[in-house]
Amino acid sequence: MTLGRAWARDWVGRSARVIAEQRTRLISLDREIGDGDHGENMERGFQAVVVKLADLDPDAAPAEVLKLVATTLISTVGGASGPLYGTAYLKASGAIAGLEELDGTALVALLGAARDGVVLRGKAEVGDKTMIDAWTPAVEAAGQAQAEGRSEAQILDAAAAAAESGSASTDPLVARKGRASYLGERAVGHRDPGSVSTALILRAAADAATGGT
Ligand code: ADP
Ligand code: MG
Repeated sequence: MTLGRAWARDWVGRSARVIAEQRTRLISLDREIGDGDHGENMERGFQAVVVKLADLDPDAAPAEVLKLVATTLISTVGGASGPLYGTAYLKASGAIAGLEELDGTALVALLGAARDGVVLRGKAEVGDKTMIDAWTPAVEAAGQAQAEGRSEAQILDAAAAAAESGSASTDPLVARKGRASYLGERAVGHRDPGSVSTALILRAAADAATGGT
């Protein structure tokens, strides 16, 4: 089963819902090692996306859905995460341009382009205690699942699971990028909020592929 425009819209809708549900958690994580606005930033952005998505042509291809997410996040989300996620969705959109249906190869390209967009913008590497610690394992796990001939839903599930453990792996790290890098050793023992939002968004992509709740 390939994934098309219904999946893309569902992914965005589920992302908005889970970000709203987890707003307080994202705020408290960012309060520990940042300025406490990550939950608000992300919720504001995704609520704006949901409003705009309702006006998007119902026949719009998945790439157009992701482009709308990109432009909306860039214009509505303050802080580091707006341009970072905006670039991720913009590059992801470019990677699937013209496709009506996404197979495993397209999904791996989408995730890889999103990750590359974040790196292009923020120059973080794995181990810097940023959302890249969730994105990069997710891209690698998706690539591996695709190479093993797994289904699209399994590829996204592998990506989400890798993002979740990648996010947890930020706990013991000292941050080398973003606001948390000002804290030095005091960031140790706290999870990076952007890695948590990335894991939530990738889990939403997997859930949208299975139609689960
Ligand atoms: P701000 O730090 O401006 O308040 P947010 O709180 O919305 O912005 O987002 C913080 C998150 O952004 C961090 O938890 C981290 O995951 C991510 N981040 C910050 N700088 C970078 C970077 N250079 N590369 C990748 N991700 C980054
Ligand atoms: Mg912040």
